[in-house]
Amino acid sequence: MIRFENVGVRYADTAAPALAGIELTVPEGELCLLAGPSGVGKSTLLNAVSGLVPHFTGGRLTGRVTVAGRDTRTHRPRELADVVGTVGQDPAAHFVTDVVEDELAYGMESLGIAPDVMRRRVEETLDLLGLAELRERPIATLSGGQRQRVAIGSVLTAHPRVLVLDEPTSALDPGAAEEVLAVLQRLVHDLGTTVLLAEHRLERVVQYADLVVLLPAPGAAAVVGGPAEVMAV
Ligand code: ADP
Ligand code: ADP
Repeated sequence: MIRFENVGVRYADTAAPALAGIELTVPEGELCLLAGPSGVGKSTLLNAVSGLVPHFTGGRLTGRVTVAGRDTRTHRPRELADVVGTVGQDPAAHFVTDVVEDELAYGMESLGIAPDVMRRRVEETLDLLGLAELRERPIATLSGGQRQRVAIGSVLTAHPRVLVLDEPTSALDPGAAEEVLAVLQRLVHDLGTTVLLAEHRLERVVQYADLVVLLPAPGAAAVVGGPAEVMAV
């Protein structure tokens, strides 16, 4: 579903590459944890999936990234929006409306989805994420975990086949983090969505992962425990 072939990313001619020689395949319907310490290129790798690299962040891409068969060099992020949903670290940066159900509807408006389908997808997503009782709440009054679920929901209404999340639990306490991770696991198991999630705190996420991809710091030994298949790239 996601494929990196000998991928490198460099932000400036003078700087060391942010990624080099990455070979990676994330199969459809798996939850993949992208792990590694700060600064090793996790966000850059996610941005290469959503197309922000090479189209927006100034990173130069070599090699090839394909998502659901689409080459991200020839498809701009807008042209990948029905395939890849992206959730950043800070849910607040996502929100364009004030109320939970409006936020879930908003993401579909630019995709030209019919009003009755939009209404059905809002209902389905509220149920899926356990947000039905909060539908009329101002987002500002929600807890961190609830807000992160709204951010995820606002992307899911487009029915993306791939969901990319950059440290989605980093601002959450352990209970709220578990809620969010359980939602992601349900997405993978019930709907076959492919989830790629970056996190530097491995221990929090490893038990939910089908595949762990390590971007180790140069010279560091990689140690992981858990049921997942582990691949160092
Ligand atoms: P991580 O997510 O693992 O912390 P990043 O992908 O954010 O790693 O960063 C990898 C390297 O690329 C770092 O050296 C960082 O400073 C650099 N970098 C990331 N984004 C940019 C950007 N937009 N412009 C220039 N350098 C960047
Ligand atoms: P519609 O366009 O009318 O919503 P779809 O065929 O696109 O019809 O969606 C309906 C199906 O999508 C349902 O079977 C439901 O299980 C599934 N579905 C629900 N949520 C998602 C999601 N987030 N991603 C992909 N499929 C989903």
